Amino acid sequence: MTNKYKYFVANWKMYGNKKSVNSLKKVIKFSKMSKFKTAKIVYCPPYTILGDFIKKFKNTNIKVGAQDCHFIDGEGPYTGFVSSKMIKQIGSQYVIIGHSEQRKSGDTDIKINKKILSSINNNLNVIFCIGENLKQKKKNLTKKILSYQIKKGLNKVKNFNKIFVAYEPVWSIGSGKIQSEKELFKNIESIRLILKNIKNRHQFKILYGGSVNDKNINLLSKIKNIDGFLIGGASQKPNKFIDIIKKSYI
Ligand code: PEP
Repeated sequence: MTNKYKYFVANWKMYGNKKSVNSLKKVIKFSKMSKFKTAKIVYCPPYTILGDFIKKFKNTNIKVGAQDCHFIDGEGPYTGFVSSKMIKQIGSQYVIIGHSEQRKSGDTDIKINKKILSSINNNLNVIFCIGENLKQKKKNLTKKILSYQIKKGLNKVKNFNKIFVAYEPVWSIGSGKIQSEKELFKNIESIRLILKNIKNRHQFKILYGGSVNDKNINLLSKIKNIDGFLIGGASQKPNKFIDIIKKSYI
C-alpha cells in the first residue's frame, strides 16, 4: 500500500447545519489539487444535511455517507429511523455501521449484522466499526473482542468488496488518547488475520479511528498496515482535516 491511496472518512456525529456546508468549499478546492487527487474523501454528516452535502460534492471526487441506518431493508412503521435503501436513494455511497456511540445506545452485534446485510443489499459501502473498551483492554481481551465483533458483524456477508473495517478503540474516541505505534500495528495485524480466516485472499481495507488529529497524524501515517482514517472531531474543521490529509502524504 502506498500513502497515496488513503481513505479519509469524516464523521460529523451530531454536529453541523446548513451553514456548515459553506465550510466545505476549502476541502473541495483542496481535493482538486493534483498532488492530493488520489485521496479518497468521504463525508458523513447528520441525516438533516446529507442532501446538502451530496449537492455540494456533485462533480467532485468527494463522496458522502450516512452515520447509521435501520436494520430493516426498505420501508416500514419505524418512527424516527432511516433505512439503507433511503440512504442510497438520496445519493449516498457509504454508511457507518456499529459505531461505539450507536452500540452504546442499543446496537447489538445481531442488529449490526442486519444493518450491514441491508446496506450491502442496497449497494452501499459499509464502514464497519469495531473496537474494545477500556475495561476489555485492561483485561487483555482486545483480540477476543475484535474477533467476536467481526465474526458476528460479517455473518452471512458475501460481498466483501463493500466492507471497510474501522478499528476504533472505544477509549480512544474523543479522548485525545491513542495507542502506541507498535500496539496499533499489532492490533491491525490481528484484525487482518481474523478477516483472512473469514475470507482468504480478500484484500480488506482497514481504517483506524480514535482521536486522529493534525498533531498525531505524522506518527499514525507511518503505520503501514492502515488504509485510512475515520476522523471525528478534527474533521469538522476544514483546515485541520486538510492538514491531516496533507501530512499523510509525506
Ligand atoms: C469517531 O467518532 O469515529 C471518532 C474517531 O471520533 P474522534 O476522532 O473525535 O475521536
